Amino acid sequence: MAQEVRVRFAPSPTGPLHMGGVRTALYNYLFAKKNNGKFLLRIEDTDQTRFVPGAEAYIQEALEWCGLTPDESPWNPGEYGPYRQSERKDLYKQYALQLIESGNAYYAFDTAEDLEAMREKAKMAKMPNWQYNNITRSSMKNSLTLSEDVVNEKLANEEPYVIRIKFPRNEEVRFHDEIRGWVVVNTSNLDDKVIYKSDGMPTYHLANIVDDHLMKVSHVIRGEEWLPSAPLHVMLYRYLGLEDTMPTFAHLPLILRPDGNGKLGKRDGDRLGFPVFPLNWINPETKEQSSGYRERGYYSGAFVNMLAFLGWNPGTSQEVFTMEELIEAFSLDRVGKAGAKFDDKKTKWFNQQYLKLESDESLTKRVAPFASDKGYEISEEALQEIVHLMRERATFDEDIINEAAFFFSAPESYDEKVVAKRWNKEVSDHLEAIVSQFNETSFDAEALEASFKSYLEMHELGFGKVGQPLRVAITGVAAGPSLFAIMSILGKEEVNSRLKTAVEKLN
Ligand code: GLU
Repeated sequence: MAQEVRVRFAPSPTGPLHMGGVRTALYNYLFAKKNNGKFLLRIEDTDQTRFVPGAEAYIQEALEWCGLTPDESPWNPGEYGPYRQSERKDLYKQYALQLIESGNAYYAFDTAEDLEAMREKAKMAKMPNWQYNNITRSSMKNSLTLSEDVVNEKLANEEPYVIRIKFPRNEEVRFHDEIRGWVVVNTSNLDDKVIYKSDGMPTYHLANIVDDHLMKVSHVIRGEEWLPSAPLHVMLYRYLGLEDTMPTFAHLPLILRPDGNGKLGKRDGDRLGFPVFPLNWINPETKEQSSGYRERGYYSGAFVNMLAFLGWNPGTSQEVFTMEELIEAFSLDRVGKAGAKFDDKKTKWFNQQYLKLESDESLTKRVAPFASDKGYEISEEALQEIVHLMRERATFDEDIINEAAFFFSAPESYDEKVVAKRWNKEVSDHLEAIVSQFNETSFDAEALEASFKSYLEMHELGFGKVGQPLRVAITGVAAGPSLFAIMSILGKEEVNSRLKTAVEKLN
């Protein structure tokens, strides 16, 4: 029987989740659901110095908003818990000791000053990128250079140490990446990374692979920035004798800034004119605020749909996908290697498509708070008529209300261009005659339009000559949806009064 698909999203709670992180979560989610597998969330909080309060709650809320609810997580544990690494502390040491035992890791007692001194020395010798590796380790303070007695004494005295992986010289590490194909690295180019610290905490590398193993993770789908760590992870599986159960790797392409110039980072904040986070975030220390897609008025479906396309495509021309459709269409072999440029315009376009999918009823419910924010008093029924008319041109729910100001109050100014070009006594007389003719018909859009057209015919007038000034007199602005529909919503009295004011002001 094929192995059960179990994938994980493993963020570190060091700040708000970046949209790149949401994309990683999304691809994991889609892959899990497509393959009838499980989507896990593991909080990687071994680095206590980088812990940020509120970050974990943010991650949870962001995933919920996007509809990416994990099957197993700290707040909904499955049978492989705990799901926070800080609560799994006791599990890791035995693996580090096993590696020392088998000769694939060693204790290192070098202090921060020792390391700094070595770096300085190397710099003087014009070797600026000093690394603790299979060459330099022979001149450092570690269990490879010190005698067993000295090492035991240091350990007994509880002197601070770290445990480092011991890479052989000149050996090939090969692994297959689902997106990149074969990746081959020579161990001579790898440094002896710290895998365990004297504070009793593993580093990311050790904790990550131990947990993936214990949580029976079948596929590791994560960002490209982790590709350089993958050879180390592969070697850890090998040295621990776990190679048979090693997960399959898939490293996702970077998300680039709109100009293609570098990775879109957390620090880009609102600097580029769009949010890089799913939800608003207030930095607990600096109180600095960053905006999120949710609070900017995006539909979560649009945000998710946009993210799905940053690195993947369905191979067809379909662009708007529900989550179910994404699950159905998703596969890792349609994920590209090349960095994907973020496109703010396209993101807005997706939002517009999602807005279009709403019924008039539900859209009315969504825009009602914006109307009351502005102090507009209006029945749901009347608001729905406005929504029906105004939705066509809107990108965000809020646009509908912002563009609809003329329904709620008479214009205070009139489009200057139209007034200059079209307004004169003759036209204004026509408008008065037209509106008094309107008063004889029922005030619905069709009847108004028919009445207007018959007036034009009778007086041999072009539509623009009186239609445009009439629009400006009633709404103040030169463009908008059907003027007859607008007038029927405003009603007879309001139309009469607005025309009267316009004539007084403009003649
Ligand atoms: N904790 C890592 C992160 O913050 C996880 C990387 C991985 O998925 O292996 O992205």
